[in-house]
Amino acid sequence: MAKLKIYTFPDMVLAQKALPIARVDHSYFKIADDMLETMYDAPGIGLAANQVGLLERLVVIDVDYSPDDEDEEINPDQEMVKKNPIILINPEIIYREGATVTREGCLSVPDFRSEVKRAEKIKVKYQNVDGLQKELSAEGLLSVCVQHELDHLEGTLFIDRLSQLKKDFAKKKLIKTRRERER
Ligand code: ZN
Repeated sequence: MAKLKIYTFPDMVLAQKALPIARVDHSYFKIADDMLETMYDAPGIGLAANQVGLLERLVVIDVDYSPDDEDEEINPDQEMVKKNPIILINPEIIYREGATVTREGCLSVPDFRSEVKRAEKIKVKYQNVDGLQKELSAEGLLSVCVQHELDHLEGTLFIDRLSQLKKDFAKKKLIKTRRERER
């Protein structure tokens, strides 16, 4: 396993559309594995291939393993935390129902969170790492996370879903903090 570089706004790869994976071979198992390691390490609950610089339709998710609470102590015995990784290849939302508003963040949009409106329940068809067609029904945090990650594959960030005013504010702020960090 290897940890990958996470691209951040305004890196161009995040605004580009990922291409379908024509043939799912064993190399994607390795890529997904590296993406999961990168996501757990960050830590985050989802990661799309764009975020590690790959324009291919692959996302990894684990909403059960979420040391997301900022004030949560780092678990000294990580092996004790149950992992439930989901790997989606060529995912496509085939059903949406209802609406929900959730405060979202993103590993590619550091230090910024905002409320985003999305469908409440969804159904997704995808291929697993063996190339088999599968379906997943999701609600709650998993539904929101899948929609967020699939947006990445379209070159869309959660800040793109905000009102124009909020979006402009967010982007200016992000560019400024990034410049400060790189100085
Ligand atoms: Zn994201």
